[in-house]
Amino acid sequence: MRSKIVAGNWKMNKNLEETEKLLAELSAKLPNTEAEVMVAPTFVNLSRSVQVLESSTIQVMAQNMHFEESGAFTGEISADMLLNIGVETVILGHSERRAYFGETDELLAKKVAKALEKGLRVMFCFGEELDERKAGNHFKVVETQLKNALFSLDNSSWSSIVLAYEPVWAIGTGETASPEQAQEMHAFIRKTIAEAYSNSIADEVSILYGGSVKPNNAQEIFSKTDVDGGLIGGASLVADDFLAIVNAI
Ligand code: PEP
Repeated sequence: MRSKIVAGNWKMNKNLEETEKLLAELSAKLPNTEAEVMVAPTFVNLSRSVQVLESSTIQVMAQNMHFEESGAFTGEISADMLLNIGVETVILGHSERRAYFGETDELLAKKVAKALEKGLRVMFCFGEELDERKAGNHFKVVETQLKNALFSLDNSSWSSIVLAYEPVWAIGTGETASPEQAQEMHAFIRKTIAEAYSNSIADEVSILYGGSVKPNNAQEIFSKTDVDGGLIGGASLVADDFLAIVNAI
């Protein structure tokens, strides 16, 4: 059975003290849940986050990594560095990385391959922009993103992949895809994977929805058959909001 997951992407927010405080609150109030709960603090606070959450079931993710092993790549972080401090999952392909840091499908294919080779789990983000949806191209765009970055993987790699469908027009905008729009796209994603690989791989992969998920809309979105949880931005920075979303699964 595929995992249910609620993950918080903290982006460039929270200094060390704020990170410790939020983690302490989350772990103290975490409800009994069937979902995996994950958070992605900034790089500088990852190591401390792993320590703080040592006796918690909350997992720590990184927001990015480089595809090279090591070397002259100023400002970058390798897969081995993440594993070395106890981080086991990395977010790749977030729309902000694509939009502001020029990350392409081709670059992301290299990052995904390196992360998997090293034994990291990958939370792969993708989704269409507003003009692409308005033009009716959203299915094609999503299919191309998946194909370019993931469809060279072998069958066994898929057990280390989590997908996060995040329509760019819904990220940080307060605009959410309707539960029906999310379900329609998630079903399409599963069908696309089934055609490229197999029904069992498509059935087993968790597909999260991301884009302005809040306590007041999470339950309806999570109730859809092909939605296995959420990647949460803004609402993951407030303990009670994030925990309410965890409770909605
Ligand atoms: C995100 O950045 O992955 C995200 C979904 O953000 P928000 O929840 O703020 O829309």
